[in-house]
Amino acid sequence: MDTDIKSLGDIGFSGDDHVVPFDVTALDTRGRAVQLGPLLDAILGRHDYPVPVARLLAELITLTVLLGTSLKFEGKLIVQTKGDGSVDLVVADFRTPGDLRAYARFDEDRLAAAEAAGLTSPTDLLGSGILAFTIDQGEFMQRYQGIVEMKGDTLEAMAETYFRQSEQIPTVLRLGVAELFDRDETGRSRHRWRAGGLVAQFLPEAPDRMRMPDLPGGDLPEGAESRVIPIDDVWSETKALVATVNAGELTDPQVGAERLLYRLFHEHGVRVYPAAAVADKCSCSREKLAGVLGGFSAGEIRDSVEDGHISVVCEFCSTTYLFDPGEFLER
Ligand SMILES: [Zn+2]
Repeated sequence: MDTDIKSLGDIGFSGDDHVVPFDVTALDTRGRAVQLGPLLDAILGRHDYPVPVARLLAELITLTVLLGTSLKFEGKLIVQTKGDGSVDLVVADFRTPGDLRAYARFDEDRLAAAEAAGLTSPTDLLGSGILAFTIDQGEFMQRYQGIVEMKGDTLEAMAETYFRQSEQIPTVLRLGVAELFDRDETGRSRHRWRAGGLVAQFLPEAPDRMRMPDLPGGDLPEGAESRVIPIDDVWSETKALVATVNAGELTDPQVGAERLLYRLFHEHGVRVYPAAAVADKCSCSREKLAGVLGGFSAGEIRDSVEDGHISVVCEFCSTTYLFDPGEFLER
């Protein structure tokens, strides 16, 4: 261990599947960092997605837990893509304080063709469409939804656009996904998914320092050079530091979220706060699905019967629920 790591002092390491909030007062920067392991293996393993789909979903899950753990109320954050690509829908659904569920929908033939052609960037897979952020505080509160067009090669870039447009908070994001091939205790080869992410936002205490240095120069004609906007020096420093992070560091279990934050910001003084655990947990239930079936007409119920029962599979967690059609016909 080198001296840098020792001087982490009392911070300790919260480990995988824990979101670590931090701030750097000198840079007016606040954010969160995370490394995900078991949660991803559970979700991605259950669905057995092709690798490009699994990577995309892992990135979206990482983004969602980074943002969801910032909610200051009980509720949900749903981050969802909808596009015309071979992966037409990717959704992650975070429920406070730390339940996460997610799934992706794709067309096998189109995906195979895209893979054969080497077209597996997020843009290639998702096509054109939208990325939607929905905040749901329960049935008595209005839902909030922010939508950005899917433009740019990365989910990071799309999410930064969302924060610029909808939240008007200068934001930088890093997301990384890795596959780890190693051996378990008995020497058998093993495959594990890992992901890591970091979000940093410019949130000065003094409101007059709150500017939007990231905003583009307005409606300039095509080809015209964009206006140079004065950029707050401390925010530039945060952006420059975050830009140095690579996917290897984000996902390396030997680094961990705290050590990464220390490496990046120790010269400016970084504080970390108690981590929030996130877990693979679906909110589906027999009762909820029975409620949905209860709204079906007798004809619809009869049409749903196969082999004497109605089978409903949760898209998120793949749990199969079997119902006796009689339950919904004797009314
Ligand atoms: Zn479920």
